[in-house]
Formats: sequence, structure tokens, C-alpha cells
Amino acid sequence: MPSGRLPVVNPWRFETSQATVQLKVGPYYTKVWTRAIDAWNAKKVFRFKVVASSAQITIVPAQSNEATLIKQNLVGVAEVRHDSTRRIVSVQLHLGNSQLNKNGYTTSQRVNVAEHELGHAMGLAHNPSKHSVMYKSTRYVSIQPVDVKNVKELYSIPAKQYFIDSPAAAANTISKDRVTASSR
Ligand SMILES: [Zn+2]
Repeated sequence: MPSGRLPVVNPWRFETSQATVQLKVGPYYTKVWTRAIDAWNAKKVFRFKVVASSAQITIVPAQSNEATLIKQNLVGVAEVRHDSTRRIVSVQLHLGNSQLNKNGYTTSQRVNVAEHELGHAMGLAHNPSKHSVMYKSTRYVSIQPVDVKNVKELYSIPAKQYFIDSPAAAANTISKDRVTASSR
């Protein structure tokens, strides 16, 4: 990348500033994620629409990868699949219950981590500033004006300008971006 300030958005996003979300977690984490979704929706820069069946964003419990989460002390993970046209194809998010418990995260702090992971789902990258929900090991900070501004700017670019719809780009492979929030 060119020198200068670090990018705070990734080079991918959804087609428009909205996406469907399916919650596949139990009652407690449904409450946590719903609070995070409501907090983002209240900013009116992106619309997360909760649906009952297959969605663009799926929120799953940490189960199969629990050992990895514990080993790496991860409290949240976002897997964003995107294609070479810069479109997000699908997103899977989860919170690491064991590590959140072990590190004594309150419910509000878990909501902050969920807001961080939803930030990745929209296309935000990490922000080097601690005064951003996208700080890499966010815990105490919720959505800040800078975060709202970054989402707004990302989705203010017309789709025609933003996406690469050349025939070369159409023949793409889907790559996976794995990002984490840590308690450290
Ligand atoms: Zn992150």
C-alpha cells in the first residue's frame, strides 16, 4: 500500500449499505448481538436486517474452533469472504465465549466486541486509534463518530465506481479474511 496513514477500511464491501443477518446463537448471545446490531442500525449508515433463514452474514456459536480460540486468547472472529470484484460474498462472525468468560468481560463489553466484528462485516479494517470500536483489541469502547464516518464514506462511493466489473474480475476466486479481537 502507499505510505501514509493506515487504511481504516478494507478494499471490499457489500453492494449497498445493507445486509441480512441470521443469528444462530443461544438466547444470551442473541441478546448481545441484537444490542450490537441495534447500536449500528441507530447510526443510520448501514442497515443490518435480521432474518430467520440463510443470510449474507451468519452469526454462529464458537464450537468447532474453540481450541484455537483458547490457544490464541481470541474473544471474537470475523471471516469475510469477498471476490475480486471487491464484493463481500458472505460473512461469518462469532464471539469466543470461553475467553470472554475467562477475562471477565461484562455483557456491555461483549456488545462492544460484537460491534467490532460487525464493523469487519461491513468492510471496516482495524483502526490504530484506541478511540475507535475498530481498535484491534477493543473492549471498553463502543461505536465512535470516526467509525460511523468510515462506514458512511465507504458506502457513499457509487457502486459503478467502487466495484471492478471487468471480465477479468468476473473470473474470481473467493478469499478469506480472518480477523480477531483480543483481550490483550
Ligand atoms: Zn478485528
